[in-house]
Amino acid sequence: MNVHEYQGKEILRRFGVTTPRGIPCFSVDEAVQAAQDLGGKTWVVKAQIHAGGRGKAGGVKLAHSIDEVREHASKILGMTLITHQTGPEGRLVRRLLIEEGADIRKELYLGMVVDRARQRVVLMASSEGGMDIEDVAARAPEKIHKVFIDPATGLTAGEADAIARKIGLEGGAAAQARAFMLGLYRAFDRSDASLAEINPMALTGDDRIVALDAKLNFDANALYRHPDIVAMRDLDEEDPVEVEASKHDLAYIRLDGSIGCLVNGAGLAMATMDAILLSGGWPANFLDVGGGATAEKVSEAFKLMLRNPQLKAILVNIFGGIMRCDVIAQGIVAAAREVELRVPLVVRMKGTNEELGRKILAESGFPIIAADNMIEAADKAVAAAQDANAAVDLPSAGA
Ligand code: ADP
Ligand code: MG
Repeated sequence: MNVHEYQGKEILRRFGVTTPRGIPCFSVDEAVQAAQDLGGKTWVVKAQIHAGGRGKAGGVKLAHSIDEVREHASKILGMTLITHQTGPEGRLVRRLLIEEGADIRKELYLGMVVDRARQRVVLMASSEGGMDIEDVAARAPEKIHKVFIDPATGLTAGEADAIARKIGLEGGAAAQARAFMLGLYRAFDRSDASLAEINPMALTGDDRIVALDAKLNFDANALYRHPDIVAMRDLDEEDPVEVEASKHDLAYIRLDGSIGCLVNGAGLAMATMDAILLSGGWPANFLDVGGGATAEKVSEAFKLMLRNPQLKAILVNIFGGIMRCDVIAQGIVAAAREVELRVPLVVRMKGTNEELGRKILAESGFPIIAADNMIEAADKAVAAAQDANAAVDLPSAGA
């Protein structure tokens, strides 16, 4: 789960990580009021969307007067920001963060992420922070320093000091950086984060270390123990189909191919996507209906897939263990009746009550393509999607 920058900073402050003072706002008037409440001479008006690259896209502006705060806030609020992380459709700005302007001497980078191969949290730091960190990673990877943190000890003061040295910090700034890194690690660990990125981490004119940006992601499997973080969820920032899916307790992720998959079990769902790839296709989604799906749930799952305009074929792959194939078949037929099934449907079912399931499908009157094994199912789905493509691209081909 993602949160906005201002929410991430709120969490970081609880763990002693220093950030500029700031106030989230939903209107221009609130933005002006926030700047007045913060006081000072410079402010930064920042678009709050769940995507980075805002600065380069015009979503972060420095203001030297209250009038400038009003001007920037009016421009940014309501704009559709297109950054390298939003995709070409961009993201509508509905919230702002008004923050005190920092006196930046240098922009550094600090990130933490779970490294699956090492099974540890890795801290990454660089003296070359700011808006071009992706370039640094590609061009000069030796400028990114790493520590793989032992979960038994956590990040140690010695490790933090060594990193501070490597990114060129000395004296008072190095001591601040140590506290900053230890605080960030505590925040990461205690809040079950999966990613924390502070870019830039700024060294200020008066030798302080401050988080000017904050991107935090949290492990969805641990959210049950963080109701305060769940409360920060902003549904406006999420794919509406994925939000709808989570309401029905379906694990759905939109992908950019043309073959929809409906599968029970995450492992089988991944294997199904692999089979589609091996057959020369590309999945339109990941969809796990879970172990105990009802006919209604399967029907909802179908409706979700059919909302995707790229969809050219659907592949249903069910292993009937706890789940019964006849229940799935009933769900498929109910969904096909309820929604206009405008794409070919390939079904492969194995396990409990598979004969009964096949019978229900065969007697439904819908043109369902049956398959006996996964590769056959994937081949048939890819072929059906290609036929659909041909029908769309070459309307006169058959004439
Ligand atoms: P993004 O990563 O989405 O572009 P950032 O929050 O990193 O957004 O802001 C972009 C740039 O704006 C930063 O690299 C920094 O130079 C500047 N900036 C951001 N916040 C402040 C602040 N509070 N004071 C001064 N400059 C800031
Ligand atoms: Mg940034």
